[in-house]
Amino acid sequence: LKQYFNKSRNMKHVIQTLRDKGYRMTQPRRTILAVLAESDALLRPGEVLARARRHNPSLGAVTVYRTLNLLVELGFVRCIHLEDGCARYARKSRGHNHHLICIGCQAAIEFPECGLSALMNRLAKETGFQIQGHILELVGLCPNCQH
Ligand SMILES: [Zn+2]
Ligand SMILES: [Zn+2]
Repeated sequence: LKQYFNKSRNMKHVIQTLRDKGYRMTQPRRTILAVLAESDALLRPGEVLARARRHNPSLGAVTVYRTLNLLVELGFVRCIHLEDGCARYARKSRGHNHHLICIGCQAAIEFPECGLSALMNRLAKETGFQIQGHILELVGLCPNCQH
């Protein structure tokens, strides 16, 4: 757990960003970031709660769900809606990135460089839209789930 954060220096960045926006690093925030950092797959809110309680049994459900929302808002966690409409959560690194999602095992792999800026520029010119951003998840089967 700590290793992941030390290696990626993510935690330092997270703490700084929280501070810049007027938040503190609290134990629930740290725990939930760690739970997501440990998982290579999407997690449902209930799964995040169950895993967070392994680290900290006294964590309440409301705290966990609120914390997830805050971490999504601050850009440390990605909330992904699959076709069943249920929200799932994945870790998110710094910078511009998206996820490849396996519908077999729920693996969530981040990738940078979506290459959409050319399309956005072209569409803005053609349609007069002020395009502010995009939402992109790619869904399919990972190599393991193809067999
Ligand atoms: Zn898979
Ligand atoms: Zn993109």
